[in-house]
Amino acid sequence: MRELRAIDTAAASSACPSWCTAIDHLNDDGHQGPAIEFTAPGDETGAYDDGEPYALLWAALVRETGQPTRVYFDALGDASGGGTHLDVAGLDAVLGDLRTYVDRLQQMRDRLAQITEGEQ
Ligand SMILES: [Zn+2]
Repeated sequence: MRELRAIDTAAASSACPSWCTAIDHLNDDGHQGPAIEFTAPGDETGAYDDGEPYALLWAALVRETGQPTRVYFDALGDASGGGTHLDVAGLDAVLGDLRTYVDRLQQMRDRLAQITEGEQ
């Protein structure tokens, strides 16, 4: 997982909160902190996107004009506007679901290792 700088590019407003790393606010007084992105590995068969890795999850602290500070969580991986603004309780729910997902993925990995032992 890598951490990204804000996408925009110009002088930050003097009214920026301490966590804002946006460089260009593009005539918008909203703010954004550093983003994190999870990129899924490419498929070995090349069936999707010629096997190239693809952005899957994207998140950053944001405060849009007239709105409270939230974490913007985008499961399309690209901050394209199809995501969700989450408060602390909302993030707690997502984190719980992700932990469950990781636990089940680990179980699946262990089962795969049993099934394929000796094949490689
Ligand atoms: Zn700002």
